Amino acid sequence: MNRELPSTNNTAEPPFDVLVVGGGIQGAGVAQAAQAAGYRTLVVEKATWAAGTSSKSSKLIHGGLRYLQSGDFSLVRESLHERALLLKLAPQLVHGNWFTIPIYRNSHYRPWQIRAGLSLYWLLTGCREEGRFEVIPKSEWSQLTGLKTEGLQTVFRYRDAQTDDAKLTAAVIQSAVSLGAKTRCPATLLAAEEASDGYRVQLESNEGVETVYCRLLVNAAGPWINRVAERVSPHPDHLDIELVQGAHLVLEHKISDQCFYLESPEDGRAVFVLPWYEGTLLGTTETAFNGDPDQAATTQEEKRYLLNVLYHYFPDYRGAVCGDMAGLRVLPKEQAGFHYRSREVQFVTSDRYLAIYGGKLTGYRATAEKAMQQISKMLGNTTKQADTRTLPLTLPPENN
Ligand SMILES: Cc1cc2nc3c(=O)[nH]c(=O)nc-3n(C[C@H](O)[C@H](O)[C@H](O)COP(=O)(O)OP(=O)(O)OC[C@H]3O[C@@H](n4cnc5c(N)ncnc54)[C@H](O)[C@@H]3O)c2cc1C
Repeated sequence: MNRELPSTNNTAEPPFDVLVVGGGIQGAGVAQAAQAAGYRTLVVEKATWAAGTSSKSSKLIHGGLRYLQSGDFSLVRESLHERALLLKLAPQLVHGNWFTIPIYRNSHYRPWQIRAGLSLYWLLTGCREEGRFEVIPKSEWSQLTGLKTEGLQTVFRYRDAQTDDAKLTAAVIQSAVSLGAKTRCPATLLAAEEASDGYRVQLESNEGVETVYCRLLVNAAGPWINRVAERVSPHPDHLDIELVQGAHLVLEHKISDQCFYLESPEDGRAVFVLPWYEGTLLGTTETAFNGDPDQAATTQEEKRYLLNVLYHYFPDYRGAVCGDMAGLRVLPKEQAGFHYRSREVQFVTSDRYLAIYGGKLTGYRATAEKAMQQISKMLGNTTKQADTRTLPLTLPPENN
């Protein structure tokens, strides 16, 4: 879609090497990596940092135990490696926690299956301490903060990690800026037209419309990715995708300082009960979404589904629902059910264009590294000024 453009202010700025559209975790990660690699980088976000999916995730920095089921071993190994790195680089933002898995007589998975999955998970961490798991003895079940014990057979717990996704994204942006990256937020990419050595880009902000030039355009617009691709001319290739909504409810009271990994009694899907500041986060769902990503919102049916899981396992919980959030996953369009589709990131590239489809919050840095391999092929190498494997991430100043 090419919109009629209002009159513009031509910027006096020299061309950027890389212009990143989208200030979610993937855009932030690529902006940090590109500036660290020595490319002059601009990142553009239409609302606020992490306004899209990156503030509405389950906020787990994890390997993804359930991806073992679909045989995504390389994704799990990479994510576990990134988890270890983030625990080191971002101790204010990422913390390890225990995840409890209760197995009941009628649970879909048997204790031996969970033990096998957790053993593999531990092996994929390189048998490190942060990957260990244990069985909680029956004598300690009374300490499971209200969890239903009727029919309970075995309780496992294993280590994974949590974060505040929006703060993590802001911290990565802050790191990119400290290396010299420029930002426009809020500013919307209206159009990008191929120019002699890259793109001529029109950005709309409260100050009006500005024209900037870049040698390479990165489309990291998450669920808006194909809408942004339509604004690029000539139109680049795109992937056929489906958007799948995942909702979380925020509950007033904290159930536990630890996390619970539960099986929905309705369809066997994994649902998490997680400590979240003073309350509890309960999620998530998988609902096909066909509308405008700006309008994503938790449905009554999602609310009912999640509360059914809550009261099934914590029948005495009496706190109110004090908030909700709905994020959109970008999944490849396929026949397989949402649950079984790959969470691996996919790139679409052309001469001076790179689009990032899907991916995980946990793996944003590894995704950015892979994007940089493509970018350096397109733009040529520069003098590297930093390595994202060693750059610490700290809380943005307003959160200190
Ligand atoms: C329910 C749910 C739970 C999840 N839980 C986890 C988890 O626990 N752990 C994990 O590792 N991963 C998780 N994920 C995956 C992870 O959250 C996402 O992969 C990630 O947040 C996507 O980031 P993104 O930057 O691609 O997209 P987004 O965060 O959506 O960012 C895209 C940005 O582009 C901006 N934008 C759009 N159009 C324009 C334009 N024209 N101009 C300028 N800006 C524009 C938007 O405003 C938005 O901020 C979850 C995903 C979902 C949906």
